Amino acid sequence: MIKNQELIDRFFRYVKIDTQSSEETGASPSTAKQHDLAKVLYKELQDLGASDVYYDEEHCYVYAAIPGDEREPLGFIAHMDTSPAVTGKDVKPRIIENYQGEDFLLKTEEFPELLNHIGEDIIATDGTTLLGADDKAGVAEIMNLAVYLMAHPEVSHRPIRIAFTPDEEIGCGTDHFDVERFGAKEAYTVDGGKLGIIEYENFNAASAHIHVTGKSVHPGSAKDIMKNAVTLAIEFQNMLPANEVPEHTEGYEGFYFLDSMSGDVENADLSYIIRDHDAVRFAERKKTIEKITAYLNDKHGAGTFSAEVKDQYHNMADAMKDHMDLVDNAMEAMRKIGVTPVNEPIRGGTDGAMLCEAHGIACPNLPTGGYNYHGRYEYASVQEMEKSAEALIHIACM
Ligand SMILES: [Zn+2]
Repeated sequence: MIKNQELIDRFFRYVKIDTQSSEETGASPSTAKQHDLAKVLYKELQDLGASDVYYDEEHCYVYAAIPGDEREPLGFIAHMDTSPAVTGKDVKPRIIENYQGEDFLLKTEEFPELLNHIGEDIIATDGTTLLGADDKAGVAEIMNLAVYLMAHPEVSHRPIRIAFTPDEEIGCGTDHFDVERFGAKEAYTVDGGKLGIIEYENFNAASAHIHVTGKSVHPGSAKDIMKNAVTLAIEFQNMLPANEVPEHTEGYEGFYFLDSMSGDVENADLSYIIRDHDAVRFAERKKTIEKITAYLNDKHGAGTFSAEVKDQYHNMADAMKDHMDLVDNAMEAMRKIGVTPVNEPIRGGTDGAMLCEAHGIACPNLPTGGYNYHGRYEYASVQEMEKSAEALIHIACM
């Protein structure tokens, strides 16, 4: 049974607005249609009577505040765009009430996680689009918090800062984030999945680009002369540990991921991403790339291999050390709503990690109750969304 119909209505309203971002355009925001949701949120926050409601019409960010007690402001952030992977146009959300494990678009055989939702109401798509719970569930839950706090001035809470951002899915969600306007040094992104999971550790991330320069001669007279850049590139790849790849790692295990490879006899290129939660192991991984490059140059001639390694982002766990009350409060809020909290390392980055790194905003990630992101099988649990929304209220009032 739906307890918070307003939350679910709100969520439906938002997912029906197409806000798919695009890696292709290079614009900011990457697609103009993200403004369609930004305008709605701007208007709703104004109608609510929130303070300092501001719509950055150039870059498509919406900010608002809710005044609170004397303490430092606490922020909540969600992204408005949906993944470029699957269309978000004409999303037709539907509710499977009192789900009993029956097959619908999703079958428990394929998605056994569904068995945790027996007796709940499941929101799914019609199979032609993604749902957009990532991250409109987060947007709806933050708006629900704003509605609640505005309706209950008697409840004491920290001053609240809200930001809705564009282009998170293409890694540009914080490019034009106005840190000063936001005004909170502690915040949460509300962009997780399963209820109870609190994330504050993410990967350290780097990219590595290897270029191999070969030597092409007629294959009939190539003995001891030809240097085939493609086979040398394969040799490089084969020197990396075969098990330290995305498909064989989980939890805190890091990896090298060969993202793309191209080449011919004269030139070959390998593109890797390197990931590890642990700063020491992360540094070692980068060193390994350099060592292999040096070894192979020794073997095949100086200048045959060149490596360019670039850091992308870092684990926010270090910066979180002085703000662990954010994590403790989130865990306490989960317990208050009857959920066992779990800390799970993020095997990627978040907007929070970017904000932490670039602007020193401590920013763990909270769950929303959505699942199977970026695809047609995306779904959300009504009850988990309601509880996630409730948790936000508890956190704001701690
Ligand atoms: Zn997201």
